[in-house]
Amino acid sequence: MGNFEQVAELYARHINPGLARLMKFAGVEGIETYAEGVWVYDEKGNRYLDFLAGFGALNFGHRHPKIVAAVKEQLEKMPLSSRVLFNALQAELAEALAQITPEKLQFCFFCNSGAEAVEACVKFARLATGREKIVAMKNAYHGKTLGALSASGREIYRQPFEPLLGWFVHIPFGDKDALAQAVDENTAAVIVEPIQGEGGVIVPPDDFLPFARKICDEKGALLIVDEVQTGLGRTGKNFAVEHWGIEPDLMALAKSLGGGVMPLGAAIGTKQVFESFSDRPLIHSSTLGGNPLACAAGLAALEVLQEEKLAENAAQMGKLLMDDLKTLSEQFSDLIVEVRGKGLLIGVEFANEDFAALTAAGLLQSRVLTAYTLNNPRVIRLEPPLIVESEHIQIALDAFCDALSQVRNLAAILTQ
Ligand code: PMP
Repeated sequence: MGNFEQVAELYARHINPGLARLMKFAGVEGIETYAEGVWVYDEKGNRYLDFLAGFGALNFGHRHPKIVAAVKEQLEKMPLSSRVLFNALQAELAEALAQITPEKLQFCFFCNSGAEAVEACVKFARLATGREKIVAMKNAYHGKTLGALSASGREIYRQPFEPLLGWFVHIPFGDKDALAQAVDENTAAVIVEPIQGEGGVIVPPDDFLPFARKICDEKGALLIVDEVQTGLGRTGKNFAVEHWGIEPDLMALAKSLGGGVMPLGAAIGTKQVFESFSDRPLIHSSTLGGNPLACAAGLAALEVLQEEKLAENAAQMGKLLMDDLKTLSEQFSDLIVEVRGKGLLIGVEFANEDFAALTAAGLLQSRVLTAYTLNNPRVIRLEPPLIVESEHIQIALDAFCDALSQVRNLAAILTQ
């Protein structure tokens, strides 16, 4: 492995020149080399506290020993499926997911990523209803494949690819009247993140999701929830829909489903939805989705989620982090507009994008990893692994306070 300069140069020459520039501009100066729990180490041995957790893909931390052991064991037996014989791990994982997801969700289609899980949910909803229209939310993020992008709501990602898939309608997130108007007899599904993650960590009004459930039932449309980022304990419950007690017809999962060790996604649905294509079992498929190696990771991950009570820890640590961030936001009300979220999905909204970018850069200097939300660069998200402890929260808060002081000083100099 080369040094940081050489790797950055390879990024510029062979991966993505713009991304290489952006990372350098953001002050990234290390190669990730080793990771354990909440810590990431670079090639020089510098240690970083991970408060991004791979955009929510590392709820169990880096290299959780139980998940690594399960994957190693399966690696020695059979990593990929023959795709002819039965795959027992896939079946067991589907059963385990049926047990912990809302009751009606009993069937699983496995894939490798969040965008693929969303694609499957949308296709299944169209199959099950025979309808075409999908009602999605402005500012939503569902991934960047063409179908998932059609459901997403940020112009700069969508515009170069338009026209996207037909008959996606976007309404303001949380707006019941707009939802009631948009859902009609042609609507296959409403697709919604229970809490918009990349949109800037937006928690909807408490009556929005129950209302969405009601409208879908009235109009014969399905409700798809995208729990790719909010699922598996992140918001203080196993699934964010539990905060509002609603049962969707389809749920997209990915990111942490692979235990932070393997890529794994799933579209989980009701019997009714999956029966609608039982006469065409290969209508939707994936060669690598649900492979034994990924499913071994997924099974171990679900065990860890329960054994280590990670949803509870997310609720507890989330409260600690949120309370202290709110206090900090009062001290720095010239920079911070709002702190919001649930559990360990927390967004800090700044008065402008520059303040957010400078604060993230300051945190990186203190070796705390964070990032802005993809649809809203004014918001820095704090999203550590759910195994995080109060001492880690304190380190992150101290670094946050330092970064904010620096940004305030800089802002004062620039306005002199
Ligand atoms: N849905 C949501 C809610 C997400 O947050 C993301 C990724 N940030 C995706 C879908 C897309 O997942 P992936 O990048 O694995 O395709």
